[in-house]
Amino acid sequence: MNTFRELGLNESLLQAIQDMGFETPSEVQQKAIPVLLQQKTDIVALAQTGTGKTAAFGFPLIQNIQAESKSTQALILSPTRELCLQITNEIKQYSKYIKGLHTVAVYGGASITEQAREVKKGAQIIVATPGRMQDMINRNYVNIKNIEICVLDEADEMLNMGFYEDITSILADTPKDKQTWLFSATMPNEVAKIAKEFMHKPQEITVGHKNQGSTNVSHEYYLVGARDRYPVLKRIADMNPEIFSVIFCRTKRDTQSIAEKLIEDGYNAAALHGDLSQAQRDSVMKSFRQRQIQMLVATDVAARGIDVDDITHVINYQLPDEIETYNHRSGRTGRAGKTGTSIVIITKSEFRKIQQIERNLKTKFIEKDIPKGIEICEVQLLHLANKVTKVEVADEMDQYLPKIEELLSGFTKEELIRKMFAVEFNRFLEYYKKNSNLESPKSSKGKRDGGETNNDGTVRYFLNLGSRDNFDWMKLKDFLKENLDLGRDDLFKVDVKDSFSFFNTDAEHSDRVMDILNNLHYEGRCVNVEISTNTGGGRSSRRDRGGDRGRDKSPRRRESISDKASSKFGRRREETRAPKNERTSRRGDRPRRSK
Ligand code: ADP
Ligand code: MG
Repeated sequence: MNTFRELGLNESLLQAIQDMGFETPSEVQQKAIPVLLQQKTDIVALAQTGTGKTAAFGFPLIQNIQAESKSTQALILSPTRELCLQITNEIKQYSKYIKGLHTVAVYGGASITEQAREVKKGAQIIVATPGRMQDMINRNYVNIKNIEICVLDEADEMLNMGFYEDITSILADTPKDKQTWLFSATMPNEVAKIAKEFMHKPQEITVGHKNQGSTNVSHEYYLVGARDRYPVLKRIADMNPEIFSVIFCRTKRDTQSIAEKLIEDGYNAAALHGDLSQAQRDSVMKSFRQRQIQMLVATDVAARGIDVDDITHVINYQLPDEIETYNHRSGRTGRAGKTGTSIVIITKSEFRKIQQIERNLKTKFIEKDIPKGIEICEVQLLHLANKVTKVEVADEMDQYLPKIEELLSGFTKEELIRKMFAVEFNRFLEYYKKNSNLESPKSSKGKRDGGETNNDGTVRYFLNLGSRDNFDWMKLKDFLKENLDLGRDDLFKVDVKDSFSFFNTDAEHSDRVMDILNNLHYEGRCVNVEISTNTGGGRSSRRDRGGDRGRDKSPRRRESISDKASSKFGRRREETRAPKNERTSRRGDRPRRSK
């Protein structure tokens, strides 16, 4: 293993590296740096996220720059504004001892004339997002006709985001004899195509095997009933009191609603998605970096820029469509040599996706049991004890101590410990006493099939929306189609009553229906959908609305459906309602949990 010095880096870089505290080069740095310093060559470097690719191209790039000349000599393209700023920052740190070297970030959402001014002052290195770069070229604000190096960082992400055209058009504006360095976590066909079309005999460097996920990340899944996603998420968080996580949802709406539920339930959570303004996003990211937020609920697009080290868990609240996306999600943890866990919450019908990911990423998932209340209580208790040993007591407390001591003087040390712990612990105990353990679907011995699927393989649902909500069958069908992303023929026997409705789907869609609709709000109300035992045909008798719903084992689901229909519907389900007393108490408690 070589040191940075042995890789051939010069003194000013070595000094900066020492300042940053990097001791030994990572594998991709070991492999890429000597090649890029010694040869004028194109290169394709594949290494998982968090392996130090920025420095792998950044160090040799800086060493190649003539700081005396003010002309632009290198262009680094990166997929998002956040990454662009991050790379700029890193490059500035690496080059801080090199006089006259200027790096300018060029990205959307900020003043283009200001950026043009910065470039004009002399920027040997430009770090840019493709869209804005194209804009700058069109307006003649930059000159990249003489650059010597072009880096395509996170090439797979850039192509995923649809920047192919921009990239090719930008490359067309650069000289033929420049070097192109492509860095990517994965090598999908589009990246191979770029390499083939725009690079000249690139050398290939691979760390790990192609398309491999991070080896520092362990992959786990929880098999849950369609309605248990959220309660299971809470249990995972409660099982990991020190959790520092990103939770991925598929849509902006889910992202927002899960974050809201978590906040309501007393967790340090926030949402990150494209409907937030840039200022809001920046503020969320700042709180996250400072650990004021422990659970960041995000969409894939919004999370692209998240390069925060020390993330303990990535949670796939819903799986993405693309396996590549899963790889990117899980790469948010296990960075910089640390270990991390990537968790997937899935329903039975999604199980084959897990197998697909296993095959594709050559990794194995561990199936986890849903944490039981008693286990969570134990973890929380020990966590508390641990915290007691570490807590620092402020001097300001001293003045109150005599009074406290007087009040508690009648108790022995053992009694006091018991009581103090009960103060913190009783609400967990109560919550988990009230909410019986959640079973994975497979362990309910096929009850679901017998109880829910009609002979013809269809499922009929009861829904708490009706003509009072201005639905007729056509409008409801459109509403369902849109929200469930199902086709016209996938939904049938739609029957709208005054305050509720029925409809059918094929059984294969039932997890999806239950999952999506039960997490949906309509005009401020929680949507509630239940599976009916009737085959459907338009009847609305009580029998159609309930009967013995096989799998609804837990007491909190015993609430009869006719209750629901007659009450001013939209009652929250028990699990979201239950923590109310916990909510009031824990909310006050939470800030103390953060470090
Ligand atoms: P990638 O681009 O491969 O996802 P980054 O370049 O963002 O990874 O690096 C991930 C983290 O590792 C950063 O915080 C970076 O400062 C740190 N890092 C990079 N190289 C080293 C090294 N040789 N020693 C210690 N930390 C490093
Ligand atoms: Mg990177």
